Amino acid sequence: MKTQRCAVCGGGIRIYHDHEVGDDVFCDECEREFRLLSLNPVRLEALEVCDDYYFEEDEY
Ligand SMILES: [Zn+2]
Repeated sequence: MKTQRCAVCGGGIRIYHDHEVGDDVFCDECEREFRLLSLNPVRLEALEVCDDYYFEEDEY
């Protein structure tokens, strides 16, 4: 397991071995959601908390 630093609050985001690129992970401290862009090195993209986000369905 790796721990990534949250860009928002500095808390820990736990990334497990069975996580894959495109998975969503959560900050332990502020519970903000991030998408896993890359595993080696770990890169995260903060997801906006917005209902409109889920209109994009072509990532399946
Ligand atoms: Zn956080």
